Amino acid sequence: IVTEFLDTATATPQLPSGKLKPKQSLGQNYLRDGNTVAKIIKAFHKDATIHGDRQGKPLKSIVELGPGAGALTDRLVDKYGTDILQCIEIDIRSIELLAERYPDLSVHHEDVLQVSYPEMAEKEGQPLVVIGNLPYYITSQILFALADASHYGAVDCATVTMQWEVAQRMVAPTSCKDYGILSVVFQTYADVRCHFKIPPTVFYPAPKVDSALIGLHFLGPSKLRDRLAGVSPKDFRSVVTTAFRQRRKTIRNTLKKIPGDAFALEQQLPDDWFSKRPEQLTPGQFVEVTRLLFGDIG
Ligand code: SAM
Repeated sequence: IVTEFLDTATATPQLPSGKLKPKQSLGQNYLRDGNTVAKIIKAFHKDATIHGDRQGKPLKSIVELGPGAGALTDRLVDKYGTDILQCIEIDIRSIELLAERYPDLSVHHEDVLQVSYPEMAEKEGQPLVVIGNLPYYITSQILFALADASHYGAVDCATVTMQWEVAQRMVAPTSCKDYGILSVVFQTYADVRCHFKIPPTVFYPAPKVDSALIGLHFLGPSKLRDRLAGVSPKDFRSVVTTAFRQRRKTIRNTLKKIPGDAFALEQQLPDDWFSKRPEQLTPGQFVEVTRLLFGDIG
């Protein structure tokens, strides 16, 4: 089964509206291949229903980020109906298009970076499950906002596309060349999996790079608190960011720049950690370094 608007990735793109000329400034690369859409929806369904605490429970509140011309939305409406789905989109043309196609669907005309997921989840009375073919110019900001919301238990999981290179950084293991801020932060906040690689040809217009579909299963407030061992998330991120800003330096040299308790660190940090470079510290070791520098927030 393929979407109504296109059968194969090689056919001429025939977008659902025929009117939504893609705007590069809004990261509009529309999905134009029905098979890819089907694979994304399948992975989303698995993320949202099979894994984690939600295991086996029916889906109740789905949020699609950036529905655009509705490639994913059409499938989501088919599969789940309009009641449990809401969309967030900045482009008024898409809002009008979707309002005409699905009068009962809730499509918020809003900047996704201004959205309060905790408020949305509170209104729904439960955590959200998120799906989106993300606008790549703000991928990291969207991901960090989702992670922040997970402190409040507002977002359960997210199944989202991103540039292949960014996806590689999200899943990179310690000591790998792609291991960095995104790896440490997201592997602390979530179980991260790369579902599959997506070639440029399935988008219109085709981006210059490959993409990937990533599934994030956020830990939830209590498991996240345990994993952060009582350190402030803000301190944790500042330690990780400072360390990777100078990724060729040893931990001893980079941490000098952080205004924390250097004495406690000097006394208690195992000697061999000091001589490591940031990419050699596991996410858990970054938490420990943060705890020594700043203590815990109780
Ligand atoms: N879901 C559609 C698809 O797969 O064909 C469109 C995906 S397109 C890559 C990204 C979508 O995000 C576009 O519809 C774009 O207008 C929307 N978008 C871009 N920036 C946004 C923002 N700041 N807030 C909300 N939506 C945004």
